[in-house]
Amino acid sequence: MIDLHCHSTASDGLLAPEAVVRAAVEAGLTAISLTDHDTTAGLPEAQRAGESLGVRVVGGCEFSVGVPWGEMHLLGYFIPHDDADIEAFLVEARSDRDRRAREMVSRLAGLGALVRFEDVLHEAAGGAVGRPHVARALKAAGHVKNVQQAFDRYIGRGRPAFVEKRLPTLRAVADLVHAKGGLVSAAHLKSFGTVAYLSGLQTEGLDAVETRHPSHDGDTIATITDAALVLGLGRTGGSDWHGEVDTIGTHARLGSQLVPDEWLVELEARRSLPSAGR
Ligand code: AMP
Ligand code: FE
Ligand code: FE
Ligand code: ZN
Repeated sequence: MIDLHCHSTASDGLLAPEAVVRAAVEAGLTAISLTDHDTTAGLPEAQRAGESLGVRVVGGCEFSVGVPWGEMHLLGYFIPHDDADIEAFLVEARSDRDRRAREMVSRLAGLGALVRFEDVLHEAAGGAVGRPHVARALKAAGHVKNVQQAFDRYIGRGRPAFVEKRLPTLRAVADLVHAKGGLVSAAHLKSFGTVAYLSGLQTEGLDAVETRHPSHDGDTIATITDAALVLGLGRTGGSDWHGEVDTIGTHARLGSQLVPDEWLVELEARRSLPSAGR
């Protein structure tokens, strides 16, 4: 089995890349993809660990893009960690994450939940800054009792301190990743994983779709799988592990999604197809 979606301290995960790879060994996985938010900084460490421990580590990255219904997460695969064009794109995305965290901090101040931007950076410890770091800073300051409460009260979408990220188009990210020999898969689409929505995304460059994810129940998996087969999209799946298992059912333990090795073989074969055939 494999797991094509997980996070480390390079973004909002709790474990270092090497520890994520060790967890993959313990789970008996043959391959994982480390898909940190807007960074490839964890890949060299993960790939070194993978070589010494006998687990394949596919270079990955989770991008956030704008789609007609709002924000969508896009998993890039076969991403090199040392490509100047990809890094230039990601540097901008991370600087926008800093801008947004500062705005959230300022809104929180207006709501009486004082934390400093430096506190958020401290939680991120050099990784790409995300809302979980804001949530951890709120918890450390005693404003909430746990991360979940921080999202529910303050920084979840629709809550008063939520600030939108700048969202590039799917087309822009797909073009960037394709130019480097990679592929893109739509993450945790839930009810948007229908033929109607997916055919629109395919027109914009989508190669594959994440069918197995902790937020997908059996019916959702069946709907998305059927759509992938109808449209000729590849399939991916993963736990979205962040080093712990949360209570809201959107992250699970590494290896829990039972993704077969063949899906990676199939993805790999897709890389050599001309873009028009994807
Ligand atoms: P960001 O990319 O900064 O908007 O943060 C998104 C990340 O926050 C996701 O990848 C999850 O790790 C986490 N997250 C999003 N919503 C929630 C929630 N309701 N409760 C806990 N964590 C969440
Ligand atoms: Fe995350
Ligand atoms: Fe995501
Ligand atoms: Zn994720």
